[in-house]
Amino acid sequence: MISKKMESLVKGSSVIRAMFEEGKQMAAKYGAENVFDFSLGNPNVAAPAEVNEAIIDIVKNTDSVKLHGYMSNAGHDEVRQAIAESLNSRFGTSYDKGNIVMTVGAAGGLNVALKSILNPEDEVIAFAPYFGEYNNYVSNFDGKMVVITPDTETFQPNLVEFEQKITDRTACVIVNSPNNPTGVIYSKETLDRLGAILEKKQQELGRTIYLITDEPYRELAYDGAVVPWVPDHYSNTIVGYSYSKSLSLPGERIGYLVIPSEVDDYADLFAAAGVATRILGFVNAPSIMQLVIGKCLDATTDISYYDRNRTTLYEGLTKLGFTCQKGEGAFYLFMKSPIDDDKEFANRAKKYNLLIVPGSTFMCPGYVRIAYCVSYETVTGSLPRFAQLAKEFF
Ligand code: PLP
Repeated sequence: MISKKMESLVKGSSVIRAMFEEGKQMAAKYGAENVFDFSLGNPNVAAPAEVNEAIIDIVKNTDSVKLHGYMSNAGHDEVRQAIAESLNSRFGTSYDKGNIVMTVGAAGGLNVALKSILNPEDEVIAFAPYFGEYNNYVSNFDGKMVVITPDTETFQPNLVEFEQKITDRTACVIVNSPNNPTGVIYSKETLDRLGAILEKKQQELGRTIYLITDEPYRELAYDGAVVPWVPDHYSNTIVGYSYSKSLSLPGERIGYLVIPSEVDDYADLFAAAGVATRILGFVNAPSIMQLVIGKCLDATTDISYYDRNRTTLYEGLTKLGFTCQKGEGAFYLFMKSPIDDDKEFANRAKKYNLLIVPGSTFMCPGYVRIAYCVSYETVTGSLPRFAQLAKEFF
């Protein structure tokens, strides 16, 4: 018999994952070219050639113990140092390996950070719409999720409600920009205001409130948009990064946390993150992938590929009468459902072999998410299907 907690987690299991499985079944039934699966953020752009070359080179030329052995829980020293230096050159910071913990993707990093920070019943604030897995990660450590309702005009965080919802139980706040599911990049002004509110509340409440910035989409920004470096706006910031999207490596499970020396209780927090990595069962991030990342810090993905999908879909869908948020980052389009019930709308879309994710999965009902990290043919092939769907509503 499984635990009560897992029983309810299994029941409420990821809608996105369920759709991904459904998409595979539909592809087997109707042929892959006739299924338009926009459900999962699984990059369609190939990983950069230098990643595969680095894997081969590293496997051929690295001592076996170094390659396959145990290591510090935080990861290979020289890789952490190289990441720190790369961040310093990009963001004018002064990190070193003592600020970097290698993680099993962004998901692993978030779990390590939350385990390090949370006591049972501590509150974690997130701004809807947000990646629904945060609810599970917070529940892993018996924290309580506090949801800030969305500002559907701009999809920037609703800071008025935020300020009201901070209490003496607030242990941390999670932000994600470029955002999944809207593609919106949080502006410098937003982050300045958010940082100022947190500073003020820390003073008032006499406690530390950490800000965790979840940034797997940092490199995916279009139209010359700049993604602000969040620690510049609030000193108690922990950065979670992942190569899942930026280098198309989601199956490889590699990323890192930045724990700046400026954060409160830095030394304890850094030590806690190492221990959390170990006792959550990761022990350390995958060794070969760490070494690969160390050699591929300047590798990039083909942003223009996603941008073409973004523009084609946005123009196609708005022409059909749909209202979409044209975010400047990530690879998601957030579209208003023409009916209040977003789940019903997503179900009706399935009739045309269109798989899109209800916004309620992201705590934002009345919308759907379209992940455009798919082939261009999927995008263009989907538009006549969306046209049929639109006819049901407009
Ligand atoms: N955070 C956000 C906002 C995401 O969209 C995802 C994956 O889609 C993750 C975290 C998990 O990323 P990873 O595969 O690096 O664990």
